[in-house]
Amino acid sequence: MVDLKGQYEGIKDVVNESIQDVLETTAFVNGPKVHQFQRNLENYLGVKHVIPCANGTDALQIAMMGLGLKPGDEVITADFTFAATVEVIALLNLTPVLVDVEPDTFNIDIEAVKKAITPKTKAIVPVHLFGQCANMEALMEIAKEHDLYVIEDNAQGIGAKYKYSNGEEVMAGTIGHVASTSFFPSKNLGCYGDGGAIFTNDDDLAHIMRGVVNHGMYERYHHDVVGVNSRLDSIQAAVLDAKLPHLDTYNRARRNAATKYNAAFVSHPNIITPKTTNGELDETYEYHVFHQYTLKIIGTDRDALAKHLNEKEIPCGVYYPIPLHRQKAYLDSRYREEDFTVTNRLVKEVISLPMHTELDDEQIDFITQTVIDFVNNN
Ligand SMILES: *Cc1c(COP(=O)(O)O)cnc(C)c1O
Repeated sequence: MVDLKGQYEGIKDVVNESIQDVLETTAFVNGPKVHQFQRNLENYLGVKHVIPCANGTDALQIAMMGLGLKPGDEVITADFTFAATVEVIALLNLTPVLVDVEPDTFNIDIEAVKKAITPKTKAIVPVHLFGQCANMEALMEIAKEHDLYVIEDNAQGIGAKYKYSNGEEVMAGTIGHVASTSFFPSKNLGCYGDGGAIFTNDDDLAHIMRGVVNHGMYERYHHDVVGVNSRLDSIQAAVLDAKLPHLDTYNRARRNAATKYNAAFVSHPNIITPKTTNGELDETYEYHVFHQYTLKIIGTDRDALAKHLNEKEIPCGVYYPIPLHRQKAYLDSRYREEDFTVTNRLVKEVISLPMHTELDDEQIDFITQTVIDFVNNN
């Protein structure tokens, strides 16, 4: 699905040099590289505060702790996402409230969010699934009206832009009260281990979260709040700082590949290409960073297609095969199947094709032709 080796070959010298710097200084935790990367990422995103941490799951948890959410508070999030999002809600004894998603963008459904709001609701966690922002303008309006926090799960959308209806553009992860991201190796900005970060423009919240990531300490050995130990290590920061200047180029390469996939499938009635919310996709389109390129397959057994692709040695993935509301850990007697008709359908129809920065035309032709042939004949 990804070609980390091919990508490394292209940036080997800078990455090696950046790691070597850390080895020479031996500042392995919270060293100068971490601060340098933090500042560079703040500049790239145009956000006041980046707080590096150990992984994207911790980032979500720290954001919720920082906001002071309390047991019993309800947090609304999407049924169709990676489990990390709902996991931390449950872990903090908050009440997850899963809602359906939109059939074409795969992102949280605005009407479903509105319906799920109760007096106990305290936050909404939209996930910018597969690299395209949820409808943030609508969500921020709802949040304002009901006095809710919005926590963007931006693990899949780093580098994407978001466009308001008045034309104003901002980076994904800088819109809500706080946002989280992951630097897991396969993410769009990946390190060579685990890593994550939290973003916010709120000075007070940033201050609280800087303590939370470090055992609740604001002054050495004074523990003012219950915290966690969640640090980005300096070697990972060195890799990330070397890769950050390439992020836009990498995302452009992903968009290029997505544009070629789209062109191959465009007229096929049973292969539905991913919808872009700001018009037609081309190289200059900056609102989708294609963490995944995800098709919907109609009228052909998706699992049979996945098996066929694997036999042809084409990697593929099903993100995600089971709705969260039907996962044993997150069952809730309040959920009704008719409230999840879209997710229930998507889990059977979606398939993600190889998507990374090193895909070439020959590979794309082989992949698209294999998919089309199978769908035509089955
Ligand atoms: C990857 C991911 C996470 C978790 O990130 P980790 O760094 O693996 O903990 C959370 N949410 C979403 C949507 C993700 O894709």
